[in-house]
Amino acid sequence: MMLKTPNEIDIVRAKSSKITEVDFENLSFGNIFTDHMLVCDFKNGKWEKPIIKPYEPFLIDPSAKVFHYGQAIFEGMKAYKDNQDDVWLFRPDENFHRFNKSASRMAMPEVPEDIFIGGLKTIVDLERDWVKKGLGNTLYLRPFMIAIGSGVIAQPSTQYRFMIILSPARSYYQGEVKVIIAEHYSRAANGGIGAAKAAGNYSAQFYPQKLAQEKGFQQIIWTDDATHTKLEEAGTMNVFFRINDTIITAPVSERILDGVTRKSLIALAKREGINIEERDVLVNEIVKAAKDGSLKEIFGAGTAAVVSPIVGFQYQEHYYELPKLENSLAMHLKEEITKIQYKLADDTFGWTV
Ligand code: PMP
Repeated sequence: MMLKTPNEIDIVRAKSSKITEVDFENLSFGNIFTDHMLVCDFKNGKWEKPIIKPYEPFLIDPSAKVFHYGQAIFEGMKAYKDNQDDVWLFRPDENFHRFNKSASRMAMPEVPEDIFIGGLKTIVDLERDWVKKGLGNTLYLRPFMIAIGSGVIAQPSTQYRFMIILSPARSYYQGEVKVIIAEHYSRAANGGIGAAKAAGNYSAQFYPQKLAQEKGFQQIIWTDDATHTKLEEAGTMNVFFRINDTIITAPVSERILDGVTRKSLIALAKREGINIEERDVLVNEIVKAAKDGSLKEIFGAGTAAVVSPIVGFQYQEHYYELPKLENSLAMHLKEEITKIQYKLADDTFGWTV
């Protein structure tokens, strides 16, 4: 797919590269960053010229709105290298549109396509040596925007900084993922910011997440805030349930992030002739299916882990274990999406850029 490239981005190259110091075999997620970052400020009602420069800390005023009112949004995406050493983005237009949807919801300015997509293409190209070949190796891309305008009055900033930083990542085995269904805490509410990738959505999850981890669960399955009867997301992933041979997942709403992996798996499932339904998933229905043996799989879907199988769930003090399957549909869909991302299969959807 062709996308617009930027008119102009200033590039100041790092004097030397840190790449030789990095142990690519033993990366822990999100701790190491590449040599460069992209920075673009919004001032006086317009975006300035983006600059790519050496990765480094920067100064902002202690009264900047991001520190006090959390005006901050981000995206998470990956670059992949194929066997011919070409580097690919996966559906970056989706992240671009979601980013600007988040921006509007947080009263922040939208970022133009040539800065977001053009910036990504330029910086990924510059850092292409950081994208390693081989399944599971990726460069994680983190575009984000913060309010840098000073003053502690509670109103939207007039100054913003858009940035892109990049971190080499390796697929990791997370161990067994057991989840607990939320009965009290909520991730999002109608009319709230659940559908935005806003920083506050994540900090608000840390405390319930900590409580769940203390009880031995790696993740929470979030339920709707009003009734806690509908299953909505798994931690920071969309969630899918397989009952017999049908896969079901909640429809996107004001409370649910419109995941790129989610929509890609739905499209792949349809292509493969797998029954897939986007509809409310009731807690009762899943508990009943777990009891009668028709619940075959639960899995999370998101950029970081791609597909994350869940081995069991806890609800109202009961733990329900899922069967160990030979032909997991979750694993099949993971394989299909991975093949497209690494250009090992025809990209009939036109997802790779
Ligand atoms: N839900 C939430 C709350 C998330 O943070 C993410 C990760 N971006 C997802 C779902 C999955 O979205 P995607 O497939 O676009 O990574």
